[in-house]
Amino acid sequence: MKKIAVIGGGAAGMSVAVMLKKRGFSVLVLERGERLGRKLSATGNGQGNVTNTDMSKAHYFSDDNEKVARALARFGANDTVKFLESMGGIFLPDARGRVYPASRQASAITDLFRRELARTGVEIRTGAFVKGVSRKGEKFIIELEKGREEVDRVVLAAGGKAAENFGTDGNAYAIAKAFGHTVTPLSPVLVQLKCRADEVRGLRGIRVDGLVRVLRAGKEIYSGRGDILFTDNGVSGDAVFRASSYTEKGDTLLLDLLPDVSEERLTSLCAGEDSLLCVVNNGLARALCKRANGKNLAALIKRFPLTVEGTLGFMRAQATRGGVPLCETDESLQSKHCKGLYFAGEILNVDGECGGYNLQWAFTSAFLVAEGME
Ligand SMILES: Cc1cc2nc3c(=O)[nH]c(=O)nc-3n(C[C@H](O)[C@H](O)[C@H](O)COP(=O)(O)OP(=O)(O)OC[C@H]3O[C@@H](n4cnc5c(N)ncnc54)[C@H](O)[C@@H]3O)c2cc1C
Repeated sequence: MKKIAVIGGGAAGMSVAVMLKKRGFSVLVLERGERLGRKLSATGNGQGNVTNTDMSKAHYFSDDNEKVARALARFGANDTVKFLESMGGIFLPDARGRVYPASRQASAITDLFRRELARTGVEIRTGAFVKGVSRKGEKFIIELEKGREEVDRVVLAAGGKAAENFGTDGNAYAIAKAFGHTVTPLSPVLVQLKCRADEVRGLRGIRVDGLVRVLRAGKEIYSGRGDILFTDNGVSGDAVFRASSYTEKGDTLLLDLLPDVSEERLTSLCAGEDSLLCVVNNGLARALCKRANGKNLAALIKRFPLTVEGTLGFMRAQATRGGVPLCETDESLQSKHCKGLYFAGEILNVDGECGGYNLQWAFTSAFLVAEGME
């Protein structure tokens, strides 16, 4: 029986382990942390947004979105729900198509995986940091901090560089590079945006349901609605996280702070701070009046400009843009440089928008690997 080592016990690693075991392989999961699935347990603000009913390649960024489309056609949102429910639980979409466990507890999804891995007899080794992988004839040698393992196939599912506190510091790119792979430029996405300090002064803690438009050289390149939360040095919230996938330093964010009210209606109403009672948050009204400085308050509410100075970086990001290019793998995400080496999850050059798309990629890529494993 072929022995497969899965490096990384996150969403992709645990999924591929379960799927490979079902196909009859002997599976060993090597996870550097003391527990499996720590990041999965923290997803979706602790509620676990596992996929989205609005699933297509349009929600992804990669070097080959046609390959992403083919992958999603083989294992999409419904397959994710079926896969998870085959282990237990009920998964339901909210009004915006985001799919969560009915319990709204991300840690319980990790528990489902742990139970299934134990039930099916997958060998788990935690506290097992993989330092390197090399080839020895038909076999792979896995160098651990303590000891080594000889296996027939390797699945590299060690994540990207975002949210280092969950064990993902980008160390595993070196393992891929040792086999001749490249890594596309990396940047943090699904992350708070830093803006000019004077533009957000006095707004910290204010939350609105608004529209975020991203402008580059005066041209709109993205627009999306949702939560906008003003922070010390910029903006956060799900609308901003989604916009961060499209944003670069120097871009302008134009916020519509009241998208359901027309500018005409606001113009007829706006004559100073008092006139904004029950229109916008009082703190926001004060800051708006200061910034408008007697000029058109209604226009400022509809088009509140912020200058993007950067992001809060990988440490605070939910996902990584860039990674091992899809074009260096076949349809089963097997390395084109080294037969028997496979990739799954965020280590690949695929990232999705906010809303369940990154976990969907973890599950989809796991499926491709498990189905194609020879
Ligand atoms: C706070 C937060 C919230 C998020 N919320 C959502 C959400 O609601 N919906 C969504 O779709 N996506 C969400 N994401 C993104 C999503 O969690 C990731 O894209 C996904 O977990 C990636 O899965 P993965 O298995 O590829 O990597 P990971 O889940 O990052 O797992 C990789 C594992 O590999 C281990 N590892 C790394 N290097 C080594 C090594 N050398 N040896 C051994 N083990 C190693 C790490 O410890 C880690 O456990 C969120 C991310 C964060 C940080």
